[in-house]
Amino acid sequence: MSVVPDEVVDSMVQVCLCVDCVYVDANGYDDSVSKDWPGFLEEWDGWLFGRIDADEYTDGEHFSTAACDGCGSGLAGSRYDYLAVPMNTKGDGR
Ligand SMILES: [Zn+2]
Repeated sequence: MSVVPDEVVDSMVQVCLCVDCVYVDANGYDDSVSKDWPGFLEEWDGWLFGRIDADEYTDGEHFSTAACDGCGSGLAGSRYDYLAVPMNTKGDGR
């Protein structure tokens, strides 16, 4: 039996992050991050990202021309599959 409330489980969402978002998620923001990175979208305040290894061949990486779910960047490039999890029990991250 899970200790996580159903509301939290129901609100978890799979997202595709660009490499800049992956880097900042792992290491925090510092001077090494490109000044062109727009930052995480406000809607992700109060959320954590966890890596999903989609399969053993791609390691969750794929090419996409769609905007990054994390920062909204429209630059085409590699995306990585992550699970966004709210940091509270209401399931909205606030
Ligand atoms: Zn991004």
